[in-house]
Amino acid sequence: MDTHAKKKLGLKDKYRLLTRDLGWEPSYRTHEEIHPYLNFEGIKVHDWDKWEDPFRLTMDSYWKYQAEKERKFYAIIDAHAQNNGHLNLTDARYLSAIKLFLQAISPNEYCAHKGFARAGREFAGVGTQVACQMQALDELRHAQTQIHAMSNYNRYYEGFHAFAQQRDRIWYATVPRSFFDDAMTAGPFEFMIAIGFSFEYVLTNLLFVPFMSGAAYNGDLATVTFGFSAQSDEARHMTLGLECIKFMLEQDPDNLPIVQGWIDKWFWRGIRILGLVGAMMDYMLPKRVMSWREAWNIYGVENGNALFRDLARYGIKPPKHWEDAEKSIDHVPHQFMLALYQWNFGTAFHTWIPSDDDFEWLSKKYPETFDRYYRPRWEHLKKLAAAGTPLKNVGLARLCQVCQLPCIFTEPDDPTLTCHRETEYRDETYHFCSDGCQHIFENEPEKYIQAWMPMPALFRELQGDIPQWMDWVGMVEGKDNHDYVGSHDERNFNNWRAAAASNNV
Ligand code: FE
Ligand code: ZN
Repeated sequence: MDTHAKKKLGLKDKYRLLTRDLGWEPSYRTHEEIHPYLNFEGIKVHDWDKWEDPFRLTMDSYWKYQAEKERKFYAIIDAHAQNNGHLNLTDARYLSAIKLFLQAISPNEYCAHKGFARAGREFAGVGTQVACQMQALDELRHAQTQIHAMSNYNRYYEGFHAFAQQRDRIWYATVPRSFFDDAMTAGPFEFMIAIGFSFEYVLTNLLFVPFMSGAAYNGDLATVTFGFSAQSDEARHMTLGLECIKFMLEQDPDNLPIVQGWIDKWFWRGIRILGLVGAMMDYMLPKRVMSWREAWNIYGVENGNALFRDLARYGIKPPKHWEDAEKSIDHVPHQFMLALYQWNFGTAFHTWIPSDDDFEWLSKKYPETFDRYYRPRWEHLKKLAAAGTPLKNVGLARLCQVCQLPCIFTEPDDPTLTCHRETEYRDETYHFCSDGCQHIFENEPEKYIQAWMPMPALFRELQGDIPQWMDWVGMVEGKDNHDYVGSHDERNFNNWRAAAASNNV
């Protein structure tokens, strides 16, 4: 009996056996041969054993937790599908936010999975390898659960059917795609900052938390369910990213400037993607939770300050372009939505002119900027639409070579002037949306001149032919794109809703 009791190991011992006994001394290959990418970024590590995984999760408990979450998740998703859960939405306008999420975010969860599988192989420490392996599995699961959760909407609504194709080809989806391409082509340490710090810490707080409450407010049980299912993984992911930063800083003082450079770069790359989230929160949710400005104050400013206070003891300073980010918050959601609206012939989701009720909310939430700079533009667009000549911008925007967004932003200190920067490199001129993006380019020009840009591809491969382009990006003209008013989604949703409450159909 006693021997049996002894065989039952505590979690801590189990974890020690799981990790430490995996790290053996190679006999016929050198460490450098086995881990060829560990040195080229310049990060110096003296003792890999110092990288502790604070969760010390063993593989068997990992499978147990995740399986439990999967069971709950699919039970709710099935119920949602069987009970026509889509008719509980506040309005089908809401689905634009979900389409954007599926086209631009979910496929990149899959990229995060690939990235972590690779990082787990490239890092030398066993604790690190196991943590990376678990995160790789988590990210694969996130991609799958998100696609499954949203697949039910694909049965009833436009714009969900070609997300995989769009992820690679459509202009706004290449924004997060380029973020992930950039991360996956970096070395393993930079990858950890890109995903672990920027994507998990900066973006997850500002993307998942307000986004999931937005889903709850708008009756989207499917999205709330995958959100909850992913949220418990995210805590582990953020910790892994922060552990990595602290580990590098503690290992050698020479690592500080390298880490600071990555924090500066990835903060700015993250903040550019967040503009899309701002537009979703302020414009796409029929029932709004809080404004982008309010979310930023809580999750950006408060959490960011706490993080950088914590990192200050290592000599880390807040990101270089923090001030520019702060100045952009009251402008970017409006600039984004105006751009998405005028280019809505080329978006596989609907946009619309906000209602008077929306205007009132926006001017309350953005007292300094909305009435002064953005309401007049919307009023103008409203007049054009009422006259039967809605603005359709079929011109192509100049894209930023780094973030790949159209140059639609304004100068940090002058909201009436479009921000535009240029750099000459090897006899070519490259364009940028901001000082932040220009700065990133100038640190690694050889990397960004190779970026796959969606607009040149349109001319190179399709000779600028719009119908052919739509085919190529998987967009169905007249169904997936244009204004919500008059769309199939609007008509169907309203009819189904009316039928649900009527005795005469
Ligand atoms: Fe994820
Ligand atoms: Zn940019």
